[in-house]
Amino acid sequence: MKHCYGFCLLCHNFQKLYNYICPLCRAEVEALLYQGENCPLCGQPLLHEDSICLCDQTGPFIQRIAVYAKEMQHLMLRYKKTGVKRLGYFLATLITHYVPKDLRLIIVPVPCSRSSRKTRGWDQMVYIANIIGRTTDHTVCKLLERTGNSEQKGLSRSQRLTEAPRSYFLNERQWQLHAQKIEACHAIVVIDDVMTTGSTLRTCIAKIEEVIDKPIVGLCLAMD
Ligand SMILES: [Zn+2]
Ligand SMILES: [Zn+2]
Repeated sequence: MKHCYGFCLLCHNFQKLYNYICPLCRAEVEALLYQGENCPLCGQPLLHEDSICLCDQTGPFIQRIAVYAKEMQHLMLRYKKTGVKRLGYFLATLITHYVPKDLRLIIVPVPCSRSSRKTRGWDQMVYIANIIGRTTDHTVCKLLERTGNSEQKGLSRSQRLTEAPRSYFLNERQWQLHAQKIEACHAIVVIDDVMTTGSTLRTCIAKIEEVIDKPIVGLCLAMD
């Protein structure tokens, strides 16, 4: 946790900052975090504790952290589009809050497309994963790679569903490199930023599941 005085990266007011964000902006983001019940099988937030989820109960568990709206949307756009890299520290704390400290976990970031890495100069989830790796005992493993230049953005729902499985593959070298830690871990956590249909996270989890026999969960910062 980094405490200092300065200009808030979201509202630009001079304040005491928490990971570069002022208490007011932090409270606005935290108001968008899912607080209620979620389906124990798929992670989908439930409207009421007695509601029943309509999932087919076969999918992986995906923890949704916040609603992609208002200040959360502002935060994500500032981080990804404007390229305010330091916002990654605050986003990393949102994730570590949901990741049990006492478990040995492998953190796998969903890689961004080659074209957006080229434009931005860095990969947004890899950057966040590396912060988590430095501030916790969990191991970061870049197990996944992206094929081609295709962006999911702008694709229709059905296009996304057919495109996603073709877009990711396993990085064998990273797998070998971390083989011992993967063998000894309690679970693998695949992290992503914004989830729309969930096809990306489901695909990524399925790719890992094909070769690694460990519990695998997904975690996304915001659900659109
Ligand atoms: Zn602020
Ligand atoms: Zn469900």
